[in-house]
Amino acid sequence: MSIDKFKDLIVYFNGEYVPWDQANVHVFSPAVKYGASVFEGIRGYWNEDKEKLFLFRLDDHMARIEFSQRVMRFGEIAPAGPLCDATVELMRRNNFRASVHIRPTVYLDEYGESSARGPIGQFITAIPRGTPKKVEDGVRAQVSSWERISDRCMPARAKANANYNNSRYAGIQANIDGYDAAIMLNSRGKISEGQGMCIFMIRNGVAITPSVTSDILESITRDTVIMLLRDMGVEVRERDMDRSELYDASEAFFCGTGWEVTPLNNVDGSPIGTGAPGDLTRELQRRYFDLVNGVAQDTHGWLTEV
Ligand code: PMP
Repeated sequence: MSIDKFKDLIVYFNGEYVPWDQANVHVFSPAVKYGASVFEGIRGYWNEDKEKLFLFRLDDHMARIEFSQRVMRFGEIAPAGPLCDATVELMRRNNFRASVHIRPTVYLDEYGESSARGPIGQFITAIPRGTPKKVEDGVRAQVSSWERISDRCMPARAKANANYNNSRYAGIQANIDGYDAAIMLNSRGKISEGQGMCIFMIRNGVAITPSVTSDILESITRDTVIMLLRDMGVEVRERDMDRSELYDASEAFFCGTGWEVTPLNNVDGSPIGTGAPGDLTRELQRRYFDLVNGVAQDTHGWLTEV
């Protein structure tokens, strides 16, 4: 895909707002050499009726990028507050009137060996991005033969760029095998998550999702979904989840900033429930999109208005 279509965008780059072609990271940097960087994926939803852009859980995403820097042992930490302010300013400078995907990154800059801990650089990019069709249709997934990284090698709970080589393997395998998505098992053989999203199943009327010690990213959408399900009167359990349980689930779905709430119709060629998105998933989607689009009351203070 050509990146020229982004050439009119403004990028926040180390304290300045620069044209797209001036946001460059040096080839000597540990970020390039070792993937020594952490990032976030944040969505902004354009509400046409209110003519406003709502950023969803901006503070929580920036708190997580601080957390990721600490976990990845950066010697200097870019704090959340200024990153939030820079994000809002970046939205204004790009004058977005469409839904967007925002990607802040903090990286190890200049020159250093693999044990380098600084200095850091930071940038934020944002591109227009709407909700993909798979959110309506649902997807087919495969349990990958690639194991999810464990906390004994790379912390999945941090959003480190290097972790995504693990996701990449699983995603490529799923694509080659004709599936839309991958589900990875952890080193204990339990379900962890998808290549870029968390997973829930409904079994005997109860919502089940792997716990935060299952080698998953500590997902913000997962947290949102748990709250929405409880609001719907659905019991939620965070516990180990087996592959074979998925074959018996009445409904299942993926969730994440990028994946929003995406129905999971089929695993390993085996239909989940009727093989089409279930009623509970549909109701959850409705509540999720009302929340992020600023249609429902923002009782948690999760929306930042631009
Ligand atoms: N797991 C992985 C591996 C991810 O990359 C993402 C996307 N950030 C998620 C889960 C979902 O996290 P969140 O809801 O915070 O976007």
